[in-house]
Amino acid sequence: MSNPRNTKAKQAVLNEINQSSFALSQPEIFDRVQGMCDRVTVYRILDRLVTENKIHKIVNVDGTINYARCIRCNDGYEHAHDHLHFSCITCKKIECLEEHLIHVKLPNTYQIKELFLTISGICPSCSLS
Ligand SMILES: [Zn+2]
Ligand SMILES: [Zn+2]
Repeated sequence: MSNPRNTKAKQAVLNEINQSSFALSQPEIFDRVQGMCDRVTVYRILDRLVTENKIHKIVNVDGTINYARCIRCNDGYEHAHDHLHFSCITCKKIECLEEHLIHVKLPNTYQIKELFLTISGICPSCSLS
């Protein structure tokens, strides 16, 4: 990722994710940075940003992977991705419910690496219409 073009693409991907109030899927992100780099580079950038704790991964109820900004991590809080995600069946948007934390207690011989908590339902803007 030392190539200056890729550095620019990485910043563009991060900006798109940071500016979106909803989680974005890989094809959505690719569409937004189209022309800057190819699909494989976008996937590599996304992996890199996840490793660097700049964004987090969300697995939707249908198994597709989406990406969202790390609000609490960017604010200097301790890194934690134990919040709920809400996936709207009507508008298909995925939101981070940052304030809704889940505390999972496993037997102490188990180590949690990743935890995906996605609820499917109807979001507030869709239930109004
Ligand atoms: Zn909705
Ligand atoms: Zn989230």
